[in-house]
Amino acid sequence: MKLISVFFVMLFTSQLVAGPLQGPHQHGSLEVAIINDRDFLIFKMLMPSEDLLGFEDSPTTTEKKEKVSSQYEKLYQEAALPALFKFIPAGACEPQAADMVSDMLDYHEHDDIKDAVSTDARDVHSVGDAEGHSDFLLNYVFKCKKVDLIQITFHEVFPSIKRVNYYGGGELKGEPVLSVDAAEAFSEGFGEE
Ligand SMILES: [Zn+2]
Repeated sequence: MKLISVFFVMLFTSQLVAGPLQGPHQHGSLEVAIINDRDFLIFKMLMPSEDLLGFEDSPTTTEKKEKVSSQYEKLYQEAALPALFKFIPAGACEPQAADMVSDMLDYHEHDDIKDAVSTDARDVHSVGDAEGHSDFLLNYVFKCKKVDLIQITFHEVFPSIKRVNYYGGGELKGEPVLSVDAAEAFSEGFGEE
């Protein structure tokens, strides 16, 4: 169990760098780094708020707040995951954790203006960077038996996603090692017969 705790430390470390943007940001593109260790498959992903919600600024209206809740459910609920990830053979991987970081999720309002000063990175009163962009950092952990093929199908749930960019080294940094049409986002699996 030591390995999985290392992974969780890593996931929680990335939570500490909350802010409007967590890494590469291109509307219409999903950024992906896959880590495989022993039986565990970890996906670190970045998704522009635009592609999840259709907006990137503070969800100030009731309509926007409801949109954040309803779209967020499509990312993390266990029943929603089979629409986002496909494994061959089917049932090769079981979800273990789904964890999302975004200023959009931490955003809130105060009735009293003097309490509205942010005290830390999770105390968000305004969403979007200087140019108005924001994103979601997504962390998924699956436990897998032998898996032959891994397909990312976010574009089927979020149709504005047109490309998937893969990064090496388990980090969403630098240049992608591969950029593919979202309908062609397949990668090789792992495991012994
Ligand atoms: Zn943007």
